[in-house]
Amino acid sequence: MVLPFKHEPFTDFNDEVNKKEFEAALNKVKGELGQEYPIVINGEKIFTDDKLTSYNPGNKDEVVGKVSKATKEHIEQAMESAKEAFKTWSTWSPKERADILFRAAAKIRRRKHEFSAWLAYDAGKPWNQADGDTAEGIDFLEYYARQMIELGEGKELNHRVNEHNAYTYQAMGPGVVIPPWNFAFAIVAGTTVAPIVAGNTVLMKPSENTPVIAYKLVEVLEEAGLPKGVLNFVPGDPAEIGDYLVDHIDTHFINFTGSRATGTRIYERAAKVHEGQQQLKTVVAEMGGKDTIIVDKEADLDLAAQSIVDSAFGFSGQKCSACSRAIVHKDVYDEVLEKSIELTKELTVGNPAEENVYMGAVVNRKQFDKIKDYIEVGKQEGELAYGGKTDDSKGFFVYPTIFKDMDPEGRIMQEEIFGPVVGFAKANDFDELLEIANNTEYGLTGAVISDNREHLNRARTEFQVGNLYFNRGCTAAIVGYQPFGGFKMSGTDSKAGGPDYLHHFLNAKTVTEAF
Ligand code: NAD
Repeated sequence: MVLPFKHEPFTDFNDEVNKKEFEAALNKVKGELGQEYPIVINGEKIFTDDKLTSYNPGNKDEVVGKVSKATKEHIEQAMESAKEAFKTWSTWSPKERADILFRAAAKIRRRKHEFSAWLAYDAGKPWNQADGDTAEGIDFLEYYARQMIELGEGKELNHRVNEHNAYTYQAMGPGVVIPPWNFAFAIVAGTTVAPIVAGNTVLMKPSENTPVIAYKLVEVLEEAGLPKGVLNFVPGDPAEIGDYLVDHIDTHFINFTGSRATGTRIYERAAKVHEGQQQLKTVVAEMGGKDTIIVDKEADLDLAAQSIVDSAFGFSGQKCSACSRAIVHKDVYDEVLEKSIELTKELTVGNPAEENVYMGAVVNRKQFDKIKDYIEVGKQEGELAYGGKTDDSKGFFVYPTIFKDMDPEGRIMQEEIFGPVVGFAKANDFDELLEIANNTEYGLTGAVISDNREHLNRARTEFQVGNLYFNRGCTAAIVGYQPFGGFKMSGTDSKAGGPDYLHHFLNAKTVTEAF
């Protein structure tokens, strides 16, 4: 029996003590910038000449760290190590495996601000966003450890007079974990420890944008007693090793989170059975979003504006769940737009490694250029209502941007921008609000701001998203409280941080004994 899961509390940065502690953590991390990090295979730390360099997005010449790059030969070695480690790790009891996650969670909790400070440098996360990312990482460890202990008992089956039936769960084998950069600690932690606590072994290839904070997770799991070979850390160039990891005949599962383009490529390649392969590959692919907040005629308009602004501009819109479309009933459209612009004017933008700002820079030059291009598209497709400014003199800064009177079928309203850009469009009635909300290929998150119970009930079934929120924003899902994952082209709806998640990495087995 384990105690019930409770999520990790967030830090209040209005409290001077917390502020000072966070500044101390930023200073500590500043003193550790520029170091070199290894590949880790079977517990062995391997340094290579060829390195991935991670820069601070808010201070683009500041090197956060240099991480050794794995080649195909390293992947072969890592797979051998994962196969060997699987033989023993899979025989550990769920409780023994869970205890390693509990120990790691305690260690991270003790150094929470330090992990968040790495996120401020490696991913450009503002303090509260970094704090939320670290808290979510701790939550994943605590939650999946508990889930595995529960699943370790299997499920009860009926028995007839001449037989006994048992239903238990077994690990699959070695697999591959491919996370994105935007939750550079939480998603890396969650997608890695879930298959591990289930008894599998892992080759984890972090994002090339945020490999340093990913290494910090590997380090802490090792300190917590994770045996050698259970987690192999193979950072590298995705163009060089991505397909190789996915195509490998010994890969049992691929736990991917990232863009639609990469996810669908992996999904397709993993379906191909190669010579010598002895299992079908499981693919968990959590992909992009084009998330909408709809505002009804009868609604709290201040709440609507606050929800739109928080969900659109928190972490500069670089969340799969970010609100990039506000669809508003025509009778309240002008007022909601005006209130949203007023709130947006108050947002601060700067380098989170130096100060507690609302928004930092976007992750890299490629994203900066892409968002800038979309701002130009927005000016063609509709009207710029606020913002539109960019500045890459020091870091990759894109200021919060609002477009109004957008065509719901246009590019700004259909394509994932992944930056601080939100488009407003008008609808005539609730039918049209829902129709526009559902008119993209994505189905990740959405929110309805309404005081009309009948409309909320309709949205429950008709709004086609995996995570639907009423009278609040559409971001900030919490492990164990809002299991997360999308419909349609947003992915396989794996529901990370939910009660069914570990099943993706387990084979259920029925054993019948006759007597
Ligand atoms: P990305 O697809 O560019 O990269 C994701 C990961 O895939 C990285 O580790 C990358 O190195 C790797 N990769 C790239 N090409 C590969 C290949 N050919 N083979 C194997 N691996 C390859 O995505 P990103 O820019 O890192 O992340 C942003 C995207 O992630 C956005 O679309 C966002 O919506 C999505 N996302 C989704 C969720 C969710 O839960 N649905 C959560 C966070 C982010």
